[in-house]
Amino acid sequence: MMATPGMGPRARDERVTLKHGAGGRAMRMLIEETLAAGFLDASTEGIGLAALDDGAALRIGDRWLVVTTDSHVIHPVFYPGGDIGRLAVAGTVNDLAVMGATEVLGLTSAVVIEEGFLHSDLERIQRSMQETCREAGAKIVTGDTKVMGRGELDGIIITTTGVAIADAVVSDAGLSAGDRILLTGPIGDHGIALMAARRGLGLEGELRSDVAPLNGLIRRALDAADGAITAMKDPTRGGLASALTEMAEKSRVGIVIEEAAVPITSVVRSAAEILGLDPFHIANEGVAVIGVRPQAADAVLDAVSSHPLGRSCAIIATCTDEHVRRLILDTGIGRRLLSEPEGEPLPRIC
Ligand code: MG
Repeated sequence: MMATPGMGPRARDERVTLKHGAGGRAMRMLIEETLAAGFLDASTEGIGLAALDDGAALRIGDRWLVVTTDSHVIHPVFYPGGDIGRLAVAGTVNDLAVMGATEVLGLTSAVVIEEGFLHSDLERIQRSMQETCREAGAKIVTGDTKVMGRGELDGIIITTTGVAIADAVVSDAGLSAGDRILLTGPIGDHGIALMAARRGLGLEGELRSDVAPLNGLIRRALDAADGAITAMKDPTRGGLASALTEMAEKSRVGIVIEEAAVPITSVVRSAAEILGLDPFHIANEGVAVIGVRPQAADAVLDAVSSHPLGRSCAIIATCTDEHVRRLILDTGIGRRLLSEPEGEPLPRIC
């Protein structure tokens, strides 16, 4: 469609650009204005498309069917700490888990392969998917395979859908003033490891993606919280800043982050500095953000830190009824606004 003169400041681009797939504000606008048009106001009992959450929750009797779907286009396909297969399983398992659905009923896997792709690479990806499914207690129950001509796509795309039944669902919109925000592990590992590998930064030995299924860890948190977890999200594209902004906007609270409390490894910190990237804006594939009522925060922190993937978890922020819909970064010296990126600064990150 042609951009119409006089459409105003939000006049839309004529063509889709990489920023529209980058997880930030530009992507949300594309979804709201085009891709989800006609479905956003359809009332759904539970969590539907209008919520733009990690997935949907549909009522079945007194329980919930949780469904999520995700396409994976990561480049390179094999990277330090993981590969597209591990990502495709973990990414979908994690989107279910952060909605409170930690026992996966089944996954589907639709694969589009470029002509010329190596059989040995496909086998390696398949073994990795099996291994990750074992870790998550999940299995692939159906799938689809397509091949396209050389140059018609770059390598391989894997789309996974996950379904699970849950007794209670957790949205990303349930925060209220006073809630504490727990982060289950250090930020930036996934995006920085990928970027360092692409650029040949020479830190590849030390930098590894955090990609991992989090459903076991989330189950521990839910069991320890006894209903006191108010919101969860996995900070993937757009990083921690994007995930927390979405949670603050949907929950209508402000979030004050204590910068010193946010776990970041020193190697990620220095690589991000070399690359000119802000770890708060970088994709993660093995951490979750958990909002919890203040009285249960310590119990959830103990439970998460007892899990191998949660050893460096920390309480990093508090929700307030001031600065509504905004993130405030408390640097220890002063306070400043932390804005979400327009989109994930790195293309083809997940
Ligand atoms: Mg998600």
